[in-house]
Amino acid sequence: MTFTEVAFIIMVKYIYKEFKSALNKLKFPDSWFWSRYTLNTYSGCAHACIYCDARSQRYYIEDFENEVIIKTNFDKKLDQRFKRARTLLPDIIAPGGVNDAYQPIERKIEHTRKVLGIIAKYKFPINIATKSDLITRDIDILQKIAADTWCTIGFSISTSDDELAEFLEPFSSKPSERLEALKTIKKKAPNIQIGTYFIPIIPFLEDNDENLEDVIKKSKDAGADFILFSPGLTLRDSQAQYFINKLKKSKYTHIVKLLLNLYKGQIHPPSDYTKRINTRLWDLCQKCKINIRVKRWIPSDFRKWNYILSEFLLNSEYIDAVKTGKTNKTLMWAGLNLNNLDESILDVYKRGELHTIKNFTPKIIKIVESYLEKREDLKKKTGLEKFL
Ligand code: SF4
Repeated sequence: MTFTEVAFIIMVKYIYKEFKSALNKLKFPDSWFWSRYTLNTYSGCAHACIYCDARSQRYYIEDFENEVIIKTNFDKKLDQRFKRARTLLPDIIAPGGVNDAYQPIERKIEHTRKVLGIIAKYKFPINIATKSDLITRDIDILQKIAADTWCTIGFSISTSDDELAEFLEPFSSKPSERLEALKTIKKKAPNIQIGTYFIPIIPFLEDNDENLEDVIKKSKDAGADFILFSPGLTLRDSQAQYFINKLKKSKYTHIVKLLLNLYKGQIHPPSDYTKRINTRLWDLCQKCKINIRVKRWIPSDFRKWNYILSEFLLNSEYIDAVKTGKTNKTLMWAGLNLNNLDESILDVYKRGELHTIKNFTPKIIKIVESYLEKREDLKKKTGLEKFL
């Protein structure tokens, strides 16, 4: 443990509290990380990134980085939840929403590690995002989860400059340490899907060509399977205020005016800005031959083809949006609704009823039919047999 980490652990107030629920099911899966369940072993985050969205009023987290709640008996609660709900279908669990499951205190209390043990016991797939190299401590369990089902790890890296990162993310591992951890995991556990969440990308600080290229190239060289990117950052009520105040007191004060001019009071940067940076990121990822989407875990039950097709539709929508700057809501909702179908899409297809699925317009039905016809694994069979 570094001196800074020790000092910070002492400064932060830790509160032990028992919560009723351990697992939260989302109405639709997240179309970027593919998570269907979320869980938070902690509330609040001592990484204290100065841009963190958790400071906005919509999360109602008071004193977000100075007071961290450790959820007691969390592993036992999760165990009970799995035990009682035998019919709970396995799907991607994302630990850590508005907190980092590997924040400094985790080194001492191994709270997340215990929870991973329960996830491994019930063979649920996971996707973890972190800014800490501490995750390498748990390679043994993560490797087991990957072998039994599926494990994705994404390191959140928005700059390759350790000094800038120290200002933005003062108590996380340095980007160079995260890249080293990525390399270690890739080497020791190649069955884990690993990559970089290049999010956020702060205008005028991190959107320059040098940084974009550096993060992508260094991630690729470390062994990343994917780079998931998103230009800009949200600037929302109290979070925006906190971030701007921090900038004003720093050597980066000159970007305040530029940022305010770009955002013009909005939460997100304008679409022409996003489109320009997205195009650049797309080109760089093409040059480095790296995926810009996270590969999805596919179940082997009746959901198999629903998930395969949903991934295909949502990937198409995402790539279109990156290229054109426009969102195709019908395509997006068609892809999302497929996840909630309580039978296989192949059965619906056989009955000639694809039009009954929400948002399945004639155009989307055509895309789905032509996709199914092209699949090698379905081609080997003939006629309706191919869908049995
Ligand atoms: S690690 Fe994530 S949750 Fe924690 S402070 Fe940073 S941005 Fe917020």
